[in-house]
Amino acid sequence: MHELSIAESIITAVVQEMEEQSLSSVSVIGVRIGAVSGVLPDALLFSYEVAIGGTALSDTKLEIEKVPAEGKCRHCEAHVRLGDCSFLCPKCGSGAVDLRSGHELEVAYIEAERSCEGESDDEVES
Ligand SMILES: [Zn+2]
Repeated sequence: MHELSIAESIITAVVQEMEEQSLSSVSVIGVRIGAVSGVLPDALLFSYEVAIGGTALSDTKLEIEKVPAEGKCRHCEAHVRLGDCSFLCPKCGSGAVDLRSGHELEVAYIEAERSCEGESDDEVES
C-alpha cells in the first residue's frame, strides 16, 4: 500500500525532527498534499493511524492540507487550476500545462512542546 510507506516516512521525518529540535509530546503534524501527488488523503489518514501504533507519535493527529494543482498552459498561456481528475487546461483543453504546484508531499508544520519550556504550544516550521 502506497500510503502506508508515505505515512512511515512522515513518522521517520518527524521523529528525527523531534530529536534535532528537542521536542516532546508532538500533538499535531500538518502535511501538504498536492492534488496530483497521487496520494489519497483519506488513505493516508488511515495508514497513519495504523503506522503510529507503538511509536513516539502514537498520540498525534495528522492534519492534511490539500494543495490545488496550478500552473500555466503552454498552449493558451492562461494561468489555470486543474481539477482533481483532469490534467487538461480548462480554458483550451490542452494537456500541455506546466504545473507550479500540486505535486507537494511534505511535512508543513509540527505542533509540539519543547522539553525545556513550559506549556505553550510551539509551531515549528520545517
Ligand atoms: Zn490552455
